[in-house]
Amino acid sequence: MSHIFPRHTKALPPVVARADGAYLYDTDGKAYLDGSGGAAVSCLGHGDSKVIGAMKAQLDQVAFAHTGFFTSEPAERLADRLVSLAPEGLDRVYVVAGGSEAMESALKLARQYYLEKGEPQRVNIIARRQSYHGNTLGALATGGNIWRREPFAPLLIDVHHVAPCYAYRGMAPGETEEQYGKRLAAEIEAEVQALGPETVMAFVAEPVVGATAGAVPAVPGYFKRIREICDRYGILLILDEVMCGMGRTGTLFACEQDGVAPDICAVAKGLGAGYAPIGAMLCSAEIYAAIETGSGFFQHGHTYLGHPTSCAGACAVLERLVDDQVLGRVAPMGALLRGALEERFGQRPYLGDIRGRGLFLGLELVAHRESKAPFDPGQGVAGKLKKAAFAEGLICYPMSGTIDGQRGDHVLLAPPFILTEDQVGELVDKLDRALTAVLG
Ligand code: PMP
Repeated sequence: MSHIFPRHTKALPPVVARADGAYLYDTDGKAYLDGSGGAAVSCLGHGDSKVIGAMKAQLDQVAFAHTGFFTSEPAERLADRLVSLAPEGLDRVYVVAGGSEAMESALKLARQYYLEKGEPQRVNIIARRQSYHGNTLGALATGGNIWRREPFAPLLIDVHHVAPCYAYRGMAPGETEEQYGKRLAAEIEAEVQALGPETVMAFVAEPVVGATAGAVPAVPGYFKRIREICDRYGILLILDEVMCGMGRTGTLFACEQDGVAPDICAVAKGLGAGYAPIGAMLCSAEIYAAIETGSGFFQHGHTYLGHPTSCAGACAVLERLVDDQVLGRVAPMGALLRGALEERFGQRPYLGDIRGRGLFLGLELVAHRESKAPFDPGQGVAGKLKKAAFAEGLICYPMSGTIDGQRGDHVLLAPPFILTEDQVGELVDKLDRALTAVLG
């Protein structure tokens, strides 16, 4: 009998035995194409010798040292490298063990920043209804994912949720992308006004919405308007790049494509590429200076801050992405995969929308293409599709997410950047068989 506490107690997964490149293998020898990099994690695929070598060398040197006593060479090197690659203004790096920790750190830093500045009344967070920022209570409260929040609602802090930028469903008939972006920005500004601008601490968003909706980027200009609103009222812009960052959309940071830089940014997943549990919060020099010249201590912390072995792994991941130019594969391979998806599925009656950026793509599945009516959640389309794809030897990420107020199904694809042309074909073929098995 197993003593592991599994994700689903009624559906135990197979045991993974090994992994190589874009494939994982179970103990029966069955191969699975990693079409979602787990949950948009394995950007380099499996068995990357450079990352493994760097981590092994660090383990021999010093595996762990607590940041209450030491900093370490790999942590310093990672911070330097991230700052050199980050959007302008981000100047300090706080290294944690994952995405939720990065987001909790971001929220608490925002609060402490305003305390240090003598603005203790700034407590309100504005976030979007279509978002996921992690499963710890603060991050969960900030996210808008209905089914994740529901059981824990009584434990969650108040966060003010506004409409997401979701062109497929949100744009009014006849409205241009520009008009849509302006309308949403006006709604956000109205929310700021209603709360009282001097009480608002932060606006939080994923530049490309991940797990909740399946790779939804904003329309051009949307984030620039948000940046302007934040600047106008002294509100911090916190961007959650845990899923869409680290090259997944074709640029190291997704927000580069929106032409904005946040005050605080959270990254994780691709930063460790699955080799190390790691995340990071980056903040501006101004925020850091408020702490430095104030109390001198960010009143937060976790045991595995700046973990040396994880940092050595993340440094090697960045070398692979940037110096070895693996990042350069994302745009062309993403275009290839998107084209293949559009050609194969574009006209299917259940295919509502194909969207995303780079190798971060989403397919929204609907009961009626014209009306865009989602499937009844009772049908469990996403769950069935995950099962059918797995049986075909494909790992993809179907979810019953939140499509602004109601449940809806989508599939998220986030394969390793090392994906080959043949594997693009294999992914589409396997997904086709799985979709056909579930939806006909
Ligand atoms: N933010 C986003 C955008 C995410 O996609 C996730 C994980 N899916 C998180 C935060 C939480 O990260 P973790 O699971 O590593 O805690």
